[in-house]
Amino acid sequence: MNDCFILLAAGKGKRFNSILPKQFVNYKKKPLFIHSIETALKSKMFKSIILVTNRKINTHLSKKVKIIKGGRERYLSSNNALKFIKNKKYNNVFIHDAARPNFSINLLKKLKKNLKTNDAVVPYLRPTSTVKYNSNNKLKNLSRDKVLLTQTPQCFKFKKLYELSKHNNTLITDEASLFIENKKKIKFIKGEEKNIKITTKDDLNYNISKIYYGIGFDVHRLEKNKKLYLGGVYINFHSGLKGHSDGDVIIHSVIDSLLGAMRKADIGTLFPDNKSKYKNIRSTKLLNNIVNLVKINNYSINNIDINLICEKPKVSTIRKKIVKSLSNLLSLDESYINLKGKTVEKIGLIGREKAIACEVICSIIK
Ligand code: ZN
Repeated sequence: MNDCFILLAAGKGKRFNSILPKQFVNYKKKPLFIHSIETALKSKMFKSIILVTNRKINTHLSKKVKIIKGGRERYLSSNNALKFIKNKKYNNVFIHDAARPNFSINLLKKLKKNLKTNDAVVPYLRPTSTVKYNSNNKLKNLSRDKVLLTQTPQCFKFKKLYELSKHNNTLITDEASLFIENKKKIKFIKGEEKNIKITTKDDLNYNISKIYYGIGFDVHRLEKNKKLYLGGVYINFHSGLKGHSDGDVIIHSVIDSLLGAMRKADIGTLFPDNKSKYKNIRSTKLLNNIVNLVKINNYSINNIDINLICEKPKVSTIRKKIVKSLSNLLSLDESYINLKGKTVEKIGLIGREKAIACEVICSIIK
């Protein structure tokens, strides 16, 4: 591993129409430029990452990331970065525009593979619109299969690119242009549709998912000689919860919160308690149906927060087991599930250990 990833984030983005340059606005919950750094780090293909920017970076970055100043134009920023690494003996260098946050590790691997037998590898797409070319006021239709829309990351043998860039003084908008101007060979490989360039504010909404919230509440009486189930876990206790099913208040509240977030009525509508097929059914089975409904409708769960309201059992003694059980049932990492306990100062049925209540809030994403 002796390659370097250069991320260009010094542009002003004139078409973006915002005080904050687009590389730093939030996109999918993070500053735009962070997405590229994360993909490069995750690929484990780079010895170092050079971030070229003229802004102060407040985000904590990996030690692998070095920050250097950019120039007035893109090619000057790129030159700065190449000069900065010229004595570091990197074999290959990948150059990427921070305005393209959606490239994949797979694309990085494909670029690198092709670089073994080439000095320059560049991803491209064919245009989907009809392209016309204005030459001295004469319009020409260009054949789509002869037009290449080039993307970044573009990758190069460091020495070859450095030689070309150090003699260049013309305004170029990508490094592939250097190779073309100097009549050097470029290997073009198929790029990625999703690797769009964020150019206007509308592009920021591309692929941004909608978040929905749901709330659930349930209460069941406790009765002797019944098994207590909470969150799908059997709990050793003096009583169990009375109900048509096993009375698992946590699961019932989770179900209602998920249904609420999906705008699909409530648990009683889906599983009517006058239907004998749901008599004594384990609530985990009901939840399983809801989890399928979440998947079928293309949602995924962000997080679940639970208040279990009872005098006993003490939540601290059962929290781990319940969170683990819910994590399995929901196929959701434990770190996204929280269980809190709340007593009621011995007030009322719950205070006298005759009932347990629960409330849940969840958020899901389309
Ligand atoms: Zn219930």
